[in-house]
Amino acid sequence: MSGITRRTFLKSAGTVGALSLLGCTVAPSKGAKAKVVIIGGGYGGSTAAKYLKLFDPSLDVTLIEKRKTYYSCPGSNEVISGWHDLGWLVRSREGLTTRLGVNLVRAKVVEIDPQKRIVTLKDGSEIPYDRLVLSPGVDMRFDAIEGYDLKTSKLIPHAWKAGKQTTLLLNQLKAMRDGGVVIITAPAGPYRCPPGPYERASLIANYLKRSKPRSKVIIVDAKTQFSKQALFLKGWQDLYPGMVEWVSSEKVGQIDHINPSKLIVATEFNNFRASVLNVIPPQKAGWLARKTELADHSRWCPVDPRSFESTLIPNIHIIGDACIATPMPKSAFSANSQAKICAAAIVDLLNGRQPGPPSLINHCYSFLAPDYAISINGVYEYSVAERQLVATGGGETPMDADRGREAEFARSWRENITADTFEG
Ligand SMILES: Cc1cc2nc3c(=O)[nH]c(=O)nc-3n(C[C@H](O)[C@H](O)[C@H](O)COP(=O)(O)OP(=O)(O)OC[C@H]3O[C@@H](n4cnc5c(N)ncnc54)[C@H](O)[C@@H]3O)c2cc1C
Repeated sequence: MSGITRRTFLKSAGTVGALSLLGCTVAPSKGAKAKVVIIGGGYGGSTAAKYLKLFDPSLDVTLIEKRKTYYSCPGSNEVISGWHDLGWLVRSREGLTTRLGVNLVRAKVVEIDPQKRIVTLKDGSEIPYDRLVLSPGVDMRFDAIEGYDLKTSKLIPHAWKAGKQTTLLLNQLKAMRDGGVVIITAPAGPYRCPPGPYERASLIANYLKRSKPRSKVIIVDAKTQFSKQALFLKGWQDLYPGMVEWVSSEKVGQIDHINPSKLIVATEFNNFRASVLNVIPPQKAGWLARKTELADHSRWCPVDPRSFESTLIPNIHIIGDACIATPMPKSAFSANSQAKICAAAIVDLLNGRQPGPPSLINHCYSFLAPDYAISINGVYEYSVAERQLVATGGGETPMDADRGREAEFARSWRENITADTFEG
């Protein structure tokens, strides 16, 4: 927090109780357009900007994004498999400006002052807000695995943020000899895209089957079970028999360290030597959220799911991977759902209305081959008694379902979420 600590701020704001929903609402002066600033133009932030303008075109909405090019993580495993070029992952937000009038600013936000309600950009310029939405995504925890830090990640990719890292892993797979071993380490939850490591293993196997059929993929997992497990295990048996091996921490213990020069993953009871190593480390809320003391001891940001307003600092809403929205998984679909609830709640709050109890959904598809996909979905509602979201429905692709049709649905989902998030 700029100049003040969260503790000082809370003192000056009264008690934590004063932060609840309408308790600390700031209304713009009469006649002035309310200013909503959004930091992070990924799945959460772009959807929030779009829906704020759709719900109330009179709002002054500014979306600030630090990167020139945004590469979508959904689809990045397909790029690694060689189905598409990296450029296929680029998402443009121009329609948000031309069709809806969102102000797009390309800059890194380096500071948030919650008391003055100002964000400061890297060049020192300041942008004021009435309400702030933060969707900064995740950072890798480079202190979590001995031997794996930021510098090592330039040689041994995590590829858990799409772009350069995706290309690095793709090129290493291309350079690998036939008969090589690809090792993926999967973290304990919560992390971005729970089924992602297993989709990645499947699509690397798909590439290897086509190009290097004597090779194999091993997943060294910090967990003892994983998302869509039975469906993935069946898919690997159907499509890539003997090529994909999942190793539970129950069997080999937790990862002790990585030896980067020898490409060895050392667990408590075993050593695994890779030809290509893909380390997916544990994660945490993006830097700006942690710097602003919006994250708690878990390194993620607690929010009131009725509005996604921080329970720690008023007038700031956190959506997407950075927030704690348990039991929702950290996914682009979740970020998109949360952004809409958040946008509607902000319009309510700015107009002195109490946001209603929300209902959210998530549906995650995973490809195992171009004509073979599986999915999991969930419905989440706000429980007044538990003061958090609870799962009220959901399920997985049935074992006997047509995987080809699921693949069609997965492609169509991607087109729809891209349009719904990034196009005006
Ligand atoms: C391999 C892989 C596959 C996946 N597949 C799927 C899938 O099939 N379906 C699905 O639903 N989800 C999928 N996901 C998950 C999905 O990518 C994330 O859940 C989603 O991107 C979260 O959106 P977000 O807005 O929280 O973060 P992001 O999309 O990462 O956006 C955050 C943005 O904030 C910007 N930013 C951060 N800090 C600042 C700052 N200080 N100033 C300005 N800008 C800043 C960043 O540059 C970034 O553009 C996948 C993820 C991976 C890794």
